Amino acid sequence: MKLLIQNGTVVTCTDSFRGDVFLEDGLIHSVGANIRTQFPDAEVIDATGKLVLPGAIDGHTHIEMPLGETHSSDSYFTGTRAALFGGTTSIIDYANQVIGESLNKTLNDWQIRAKDQAVCDYGFHMTISDPREDFLKEIPGLLDAGVSSFKCFFAYKGRLMISDEAFVRLMKLSRRYGFLVNLHAENGDMVEEATNRLLSEGKKSPQFHALAHPREAEVEAVERAIRLAEQTGGNLNLVHITCEESVQAIAEAKKRGVHLFAETCPQYLILADDRYDLPGFEAAKWVLSPPLRKIHDRNALWKGLAEGTLDTVGTDHCPFSFEKQKTLRKDRFDRIPNGAPGIEDRVEILYHFGVKQDRISLNQWVDRCCTAPAKRYGIYPSKGDIVPGSDGDIVIFDPEKTHTISARTRHMNVDYNTYEGISITGKVESVFLRGIPVIKSSQYLGCPGSGQYLTRTAPEGC
Ligand SMILES: [Zn+2]
Repeated sequence: MKLLIQNGTVVTCTDSFRGDVFLEDGLIHSVGANIRTQFPDAEVIDATGKLVLPGAIDGHTHIEMPLGETHSSDSYFTGTRAALFGGTTSIIDYANQVIGESLNKTLNDWQIRAKDQAVCDYGFHMTISDPREDFLKEIPGLLDAGVSSFKCFFAYKGRLMISDEAFVRLMKLSRRYGFLVNLHAENGDMVEEATNRLLSEGKKSPQFHALAHPREAEVEAVERAIRLAEQTGGNLNLVHITCEESVQAIAEAKKRGVHLFAETCPQYLILADDRYDLPGFEAAKWVLSPPLRKIHDRNALWKGLAEGTLDTVGTDHCPFSFEKQKTLRKDRFDRIPNGAPGIEDRVEILYHFGVKQDRISLNQWVDRCCTAPAKRYGIYPSKGDIVPGSDGDIVIFDPEKTHTISARTRHMNVDYNTYEGISITGKVESVFLRGIPVIKSSQYLGCPGSGQYLTRTAPEGC
């Protein structure tokens, strides 16, 4: 298939120019101004007045994630189709080890779940919640299988939380083998103490969720993780950063040469903790961890993104139906399934609140959503850029189209939207995955199972 996307504004992490992109056999063949005459037999797509970006990469999703007797509400089909609608052509989903089960089994289970369903390309981070020696020995084999990043938790005591000793061991292995360690940085003991105190005072409604996750719990964990990264020389990636003090600690660490990366998410950039003041059970929609913070934190996160202290924006997409799942555990805030939808919203939100409102540049938008995640997660340059030889993953974006975000018009399999009612300018119009049109004029054209597994290599800089 030969496709010529012509006359758009091609935007990469370093460049923006009026030009054409020619795709052949699933790859980007050539890019430039006025190359159209060289390819007279190509099918032409007119992108006049539109932005032409690399397919975006969401490095933080939880699709069909088991949680107790339920699982997050998107299947691999609905979740990855929603990703495409939002301009995301690759995701790195979290495969979560069950305590006592091997990492190989975990990878196998997740592969089975995704294989015949996924419609965008996908890879897996491996969450290690049982870091016994036997399981850590599986790491080299997993690297060969394309899993080049692992995750662990300083939070969720008694379930996922690992000790500092285990974290140090993992960091040393990351240095030795060249992989990335993603960390959920919240002090699990502080969260546990705050939760138990609130419950004992009879404070059980979702309004109290944020108080159970004090900002100091994140800042302490971020600072501790940085010191442990510094001591071991390991490769650290701090995910879903929310607080001003965390951004400061990361900036200082980077300045003194500590090897680390950091991610934030759209919900922390544009929402705030006043959502927990909403009456009744409504606040449960934003029961996610870490919780939403203050306005000054949002400003610090934007500044961190613009200055490069924060490297990437992922969504932490983890949808649960408000009516059917969030309410399952209505009686206690700490039992409400944690998470919120967002896989479809990220690229447009970052454009409207970032680029349009002069918080980040057009090129930084592409970098934080596309190029930096591709580099961080070991899929660059086949993903995340518009250069000859890269996969033909392209988004045509209408920078003028104004619309209102709503669960009614989004495609995620969930009955509410995290950003319901917010009006934005900028909309994903068409999407190509490996040279094939998958979204055309906001219509989905693909079929289940057309997404490919990403065999990821060592992250850049590891
Ligand atoms: Zn997450």
